[in-house]
Amino acid sequence: MKLGILKENHFSRVAIVPGSAKKLQNLGFELVIEMSAGQNSGFTDIMYRDAGFEVVERSQVFEKADVLVNIGPLQDNELSKLRQKSVYISMFAPYQNENVVPQLSKYNVNFMSMDMIPRTTIAQSMDVLSSMASLAGYKAVLQAANHYNNMFPMMMTAAGTIPPTKVMVLGAGVAGLQAIATAKRLGAVVEAFDTRAAAKEEVKSLGATFVEVEGASDDKGAGGYAVQQTEEYLQKQRKLVQEKALKSNIIIATAQVRGRKAPVLISEDTVENLKPGSVIVDLAASTGGNCAYTENNKTIVKNGVTIIGNSDLADELPGVASTLYSNNVINFLQVLIKDGAVVLNEENDIIKSVLISKAN
Ligand code: NAD
Repeated sequence: MKLGILKENHFSRVAIVPGSAKKLQNLGFELVIEMSAGQNSGFTDIMYRDAGFEVVERSQVFEKADVLVNIGPLQDNELSKLRQKSVYISMFAPYQNENVVPQLSKYNVNFMSMDMIPRTTIAQSMDVLSSMASLAGYKAVLQAANHYNNMFPMMMTAAGTIPPTKVMVLGAGVAGLQAIATAKRLGAVVEAFDTRAAAKEEVKSLGATFVEVEGASDDKGAGGYAVQQTEEYLQKQRKLVQEKALKSNIIIATAQVRGRKAPVLISEDTVENLKPGSVIVDLAASTGGNCAYTENNKTIVKNGVTIIGNSDLADELPGVASTLYSNNVINFLQVLIKDGAVVLNEENDIIKSVLISKAN
């Protein structure tokens, strides 16, 4: 059985790193990778060859792979090259686009979406969304620090005392908590908003202040995700965000509701009243953004405020992001592969969630 890995069309990352070879071989795989697949993440063809991968042309990966893995899903022109009844593992985000599954069902392939891994304790080691969000939260703070015209920690010098930077984090999930931890390490004073009650203790344990907006809807049955809030709540929240934002220098926006447009929490009016030089990093940009002015995949400046719209900051840490994705995929394959063969056991909750379209 052959595991194929493609060079990504749009990312710097690679789905499987050379260090994963042993575990994959132990599962019964022979490994085939496209030439220079790892070149943008620090993994050379020589490293792959030394680890036991066969390094080949892209077309040969399609021809040989029984199980094919990548990160950004292929388009129709390449989906048609997948082998009949093979397994293709990627991140299809079917919860964001209802056309994904009907489109995939045209192919006689088993499609598995790593972003559908359930948020259960047993599946935590396979959770690619958490791995990538955590890196994005860290990188968001570094991006903000780079664009900010001041420093984060308080500093007492002979020339005067510099006050610490104030960072506001919207959404204290995986990315938000990592942003809080990173900003605290850099010496900032941090406050955070979230609608889930569970987030309060987590924020406090990182030494940040939790800002509560009364009347949030919360649902423990939503699989760890937030639920949509009423317009009345969001209005109240926008007002409090504005009040706090005017005293902040940096805003890291991560608030999302799975399968829906991100809530707009930073209004135009708030941006227009922020201190010049302030920076907003909007990790919710791909689902509309938490800031009214956010443009996805663009950095813009409005009234002296830099607004970075980027939901894919994990790709700016391609070495570690590839390693974590690779580990997540191996942990999933350890569930999928039994005695050297793929077993589509749909009684297994993880396989049932991930298998979004099945071969005939
Ligand atoms: P996410 O990316 O969907 O959302 C980011 C954050 O935005 C969430 O914390 C959400 O509550 C928050 N949010 C939504 N609307 C908001 C609003 N109006 N104002 C402020 N915040 C708002 O979520 P995520 O970060 O991927 O995960 C959220 C949580 O799920 C985690 O913190 C964790 O508790 C849980 N989780 C559990 C597991 C597991 O058990 N295996 C794995 C991953 C995450």
